[in-house]
Amino acid sequence: MALERTFVMVKPDGVERRLVGEIIGRFERRGLRLVGMRLLQPDRALAERHYATHKGKPFYEPLVDFIISGPVVAMCWEGTQAVSLVRKMMGALKPEEALPGTIRGDFTTEVRTNLVHGSDAVETAQAEIALWLGNDLLP
Ligand code: UDP
Ligand code: MG
Repeated sequence: MALERTFVMVKPDGVERRLVGEIIGRFERRGLRLVGMRLLQPDRALAERHYATHKGKPFYEPLVDFIISGPVVAMCWEGTQAVSLVRKMMGALKPEEALPGTIRGDFTTEVRTNLVHGSDAVETAQAEIALWLGNDLLP
């Protein structure tokens, strides 16, 4: 079981809805360790790099507009199999598939404004940690 670091972001809707503490608390209670955190309002260039894999999809432009619409909380969390654990705790993308007990399943009904981002693989996590928080946090 590998010790991993993953990138998590509370999106602008999470900050606006005062759910930052709720979201951080869930990861802490699970036993993950917070190793880096930054509150910032991303500019368009940063948001576009973060979501580069989605460029050209119908939801890409409104997604970038949403992510730069207010401050976000960019974090690095560490733990055993942290990448997949965080994804499970976030819940599925489709609101009707996000189970109760997950962050999205407990607090969201929309596909875009879904409170939280988490890296989908170890390699993605390394790129996202470096992009948002710098190379010092790389495992
Ligand atoms: N998204 C959207 N409409 C879609 C699919 C995705 O607005 O049809 C947004 C949503 O905020 C999602 C983000 O784009 O979290 C990235 O999509 P992805 O498929 O990577 O989902 P995630 O990895 O966040 O579960
Ligand atoms: Mg994704």
